[in-house]
Amino acid sequence: MALFSRKDKYIRINPNRSTVQTATQTKPEVPDELFDKCPGCKKTIYQKDLGLEKTCPHCSYNFRISAKERLAIVVDQDSFEELFTGIETADPLNFPGYVKKLAETREKTGLDEAVVTGLARICGQKVALGIMDANFIMASMGTVVGEKITRLFELAREKELPVVLFTASGGARMQEGIMSLMQMAKISAAVQRHSKAGLFYLTVLTDPTTGGVTASFAMEGDIILAEPQTLIGFAGRRVIESTVRETLPADFQKAEFLLEHGFVDQIVKRQDLRETIGKLVALHGGDL
Ligand SMILES: [Zn+2]
Repeated sequence: MALFSRKDKYIRINPNRSTVQTATQTKPEVPDELFDKCPGCKKTIYQKDLGLEKTCPHCSYNFRISAKERLAIVVDQDSFEELFTGIETADPLNFPGYVKKLAETREKTGLDEAVVTGLARICGQKVALGIMDANFIMASMGTVVGEKITRLFELAREKELPVVLFTASGGARMQEGIMSLMQMAKISAAVQRHSKAGLFYLTVLTDPTTGGVTASFAMEGDIILAEPQTLIGFAGRRVIESTVRETLPADFQKAEFLLEHGFVDQIVKRQDLRETIGKLVALHGGDL
């Protein structure tokens, strides 16, 4: 961590002796993982103070959390049953280095793909649950993500369950080209079949929800919630500004801006999400 490191080494003892030591070798080490710098208020925070929710105690900034961390704060204890694992991409474009990158990302994240799917209970309500994880190639949507979410909706329709989906994505997965874009239509069709069966679909937009995911299932929820300050958009700010040749407002593509313009139904603090989801599911056909 830069705060405690001395960049210029100096010789502490006689350089002619064989036991030369430099100051950087002898200084006390402070492990990086003990502290985080909050991107919201720029204060340095002791990791433990972030809590399970990983929310800044000073400014309520939400750090990005993994699917596993999300599960820990949202679902009832031991209620999650993971489904649809082990599906592998056919690497349709034979994209150079893609299979290796997938293997490395699996190893690094402990995830099998960019979305975790399964059945769970939230405040006692049984739901089909999907959580996208931005640590996995920016939660980009390829064929496996598309297949897992589609199967989740199909299972939910069969079992007459509501679907709760936490979205996060950098967009379609470029390594799978047009096959990625096709997932938008495929999932949307499954969402519609689920909806026509009279079942409830709730989306929770988390930072960042962009690209093809925003342009399809993220915005198809019967109710759309978002975490505060979440980036939500299709194309990025620079692309839009250079296309329309106008400067966009500072809060453009933030959850608060979208709420004001009717694209999001409610912004819910991370700490209150579990209870809010439980209530909404109960009100819309859950087990009361
Ligand atoms: Zn902060």
